[in-house]
Amino acid sequence: MDTQLFPHMPASLFLSHGSPDLVLKEVPARQFLAALGQSVPRPKALLVVSAHFETARPAVTAAASPPTIHDFHGFPEQLYRLRYPAPGAPHLASRVAELLRGAGFECDLERERGFDHGCWSPLMLAWPLADIPVVQLSVQPEKGAAHHIRLGRALEPLAGEGVLVIGSGSLTHDLRSFFATRGADDMPPPSWVSEFADWIFRQLEAGDEASLADYRARAPHAARNHPTDEHLLPLFVAFGAAGKGPRSARIHASSLGGVLRLDSYAFEAAAA
Ligand code: ZN
Repeated sequence: MDTQLFPHMPASLFLSHGSPDLVLKEVPARQFLAALGQSVPRPKALLVVSAHFETARPAVTAAASPPTIHDFHGFPEQLYRLRYPAPGAPHLASRVAELLRGAGFECDLERERGFDHGCWSPLMLAWPLADIPVVQLSVQPEKGAAHHIRLGRALEPLAGEGVLVIGSGSLTHDLRSFFATRGADDMPPPSWVSEFADWIFRQLEAGDEASLADYRARAPHAARNHPTDEHLLPLFVAFGAAGKGPRSARIHASSLGGVLRLDSYAFEAAAA
């Protein structure tokens, strides 16, 4: 990656985390993530919004030493031995709760929960030393894109406090089609996947919040690419966290098995 992409810290990132065994695969998305930590200034802390932390109302992890959760089945044994021992940040958890409550959201503090693979899998590649404190924030799978843009907007002050907000999901996530192509990681994306990914790219580039909030009705093949949309919701939080009309940059584009688009984005506040 060109380090000049990030002369200063972006407000937020959206990362596609791929399948749980991405850390073991020699694929472009892994190489991208492995270079990412060196391509951005070092943040004071990371706030990760993972598709794998789903709650009815917003919740943040508040443990001082969160355990690593192996929330998947049927993968190689070595994946279950991986640990990501980054410290938690109870103070940041309280700050996030304060910001969300100030914006009219409820927010729970979860003092026991650890890091799910949507969090530790990309972080293990990008920041392998695990020496930056990490807090996770949940998504609300029943509440759609507009709610998550507002959730992100409430987090806008964090960028000025040295906290990098990271949405971790997948740009497309039709797992049924993905499992049907298993073993063929380098298949080209079919048109129904590319057209959706291109549409998202154009709306982000235009900063078109209204279109993004209504993506399930407006984007081509939206429901096919996201039968449920928990893996796209972190994108909207990251978009919102960079403020109104943020500048976006697609910092990675690739796919696994054709149908899982693993695009990633960086967001910066609009120039004043
Ligand atoms: Zn996932």
